[in-house]
Amino acid sequence: MSGAMQDWELRVSGLLDHAAREHGDREIVTRWADGTETRTDWRGIRHDALRMVQALRRIEVYPEQRVATLAMNHAKHLTAWFGATGAGCVLHTINPRLFDEQLIYIINDARDRVLIYDAAFQPIVDRLKPLCPTVEHYICFDSGEHCQSFEDWIGGEDGNATWTPGEEQQPCMLCYTSGTTGHPKGVLYSHRSNLLHTLTMIAPACLAIEPRSCVFPIVPMFHANNWGLPWACAATGAKMVYSQVNEPEAICGLMEREKVSHAAGVPTVWFSIFQYLDETGKSLPPIRHALSGGSAVPRTVVERFMAEGVRLAQAWGMTETSPIATVTYETAGWDELSLAEQVDRKSLQGRAVYGSEVRIVSLDDGVTELPRDGTTSGALQVRGPWTIKRYFNAEEDCVGEGQWFGTGDVAVILPDGTVKLTDRTKDVIKSGGEWISSVELENAAVAHPDVMEAAAIGVAHPKWDERPLLVVVPRPGSGVSEEAIREFLRSRVASWWVPDAVEFVSSIPHTGTGKISKKDLRDQFRDYRLP
Ligand code: ADP
Repeated sequence: MSGAMQDWELRVSGLLDHAAREHGDREIVTRWADGTETRTDWRGIRHDALRMVQALRRIEVYPEQRVATLAMNHAKHLTAWFGATGAGCVLHTINPRLFDEQLIYIINDARDRVLIYDAAFQPIVDRLKPLCPTVEHYICFDSGEHCQSFEDWIGGEDGNATWTPGEEQQPCMLCYTSGTTGHPKGVLYSHRSNLLHTLTMIAPACLAIEPRSCVFPIVPMFHANNWGLPWACAATGAKMVYSQVNEPEAICGLMEREKVSHAAGVPTVWFSIFQYLDETGKSLPPIRHALSGGSAVPRTVVERFMAEGVRLAQAWGMTETSPIATVTYETAGWDELSLAEQVDRKSLQGRAVYGSEVRIVSLDDGVTELPRDGTTSGALQVRGPWTIKRYFNAEEDCVGEGQWFGTGDVAVILPDGTVKLTDRTKDVIKSGGEWISSVELENAAVAHPDVMEAAAIGVAHPKWDERPLLVVVPRPGSGVSEEAIREFLRSRVASWWVPDAVEFVSSIPHTGTGKISKKDLRDQFRDYRLP
């Protein structure tokens, strides 16, 4: 027997219908790279998205075929999200910061038929074109000096069309992981997975997005589903602000003028904003919510937000989890905690939201479940309706028994369910049969006033298997010594964690998403001999 309620496929186009119908005049503001600003609203986005559906039909791009974007954040890009998915196609958001080799690989792997890009990326497009034979149509979001412009492409259409119908389990979006090991891998979201993720995302325990909210995703639209924010804002009819560039001055100006209530970004963005505010003597615009993810948010940033009365939601997740899996939401007794305790909590990765389950298992066998005791660390696994089952084009599922997906992260889970990330499985340093967390070493090291950035890697050791090497970018002109750093760490980490050596460098390699590239660093120090 089935329930006797209506059959509605949970498709993302329905979110835009709702936004346009109930909150049609809520604005979508874009600040372009040249400093100009334009405005449209949810009604305008829907009209243009429907014109794009017609344009895709005109060039005979069919449902489930891939429509790629190579673009920064702006309203036309948002239109393309809803236009591609509304035509039943799969939107493939490409990260322009990847290396050419990776870009070529993913475009061919996705077999993209259309590529819509920002004029700023014309040089990349020129380099890729001869090597990406599946792409038949190039469209430029801007002027279209080299090909048709987006405006011209949809310009002849009247928007008098309907979304391509389909089932909720059909794919709607393809995002590739940055591929720090091997080739990037495609994660194929379904309409249903994105829709369910949206419902949790807007709830009070997560981001608390309402129709009166004004949401500013500073995180790039190509990064992990733009953290689900376009869908979440359409679901609520919230106002949105996008900026093509991410300089702190432009960001703070927009926050102030547009009365942004929610802003979302990676820790380095927050770091640069607070640095800018300190340098200029300005104060933080009155946002109420900040969402931070992608890497651990430094305690100093948590403290700044809390002192300003901003509700910080640190979230942990990954492209493979759409991306939200855990969030630092407030639970019973929160108001009785001291400020320092609240800062401690917000500095961890939070608890699972409805729709994602987490557990830790043995690092050795990958299956034995470990206790949530706050001290045992293990490989973090996750499962739920918006967690990956199989990578795009893969022949086998990437989940084990019970649909658990191995995240590649190492964590401790506290008795109340709070996840504390301690490392990536491939980055933990194994010394004498015990694990040393490279992340904790790095966090301890960057607390030193003369350390700008630090990365810890394991290097081969005849007796202990591996021992930690700390690579440090010192503050210019500080003249800090190796011994001073080791001494500083002695009071902050277990004595056997103290790195055997500290190497000073002028810069540390980063990945396309701005994270420290341990792989490149390990290559750099492959033949390193410890003293
Ligand atoms: P990419 O490596 O392509 O940027 P993701 O954006 O999917 O991939 O990154 C996911 C990884 O980022 C997680 O597995 C985790 O290691 C790290 N991460 C995400 N959020 C946090 C967080 N709040 N704290 C610490 N690490 C995080």
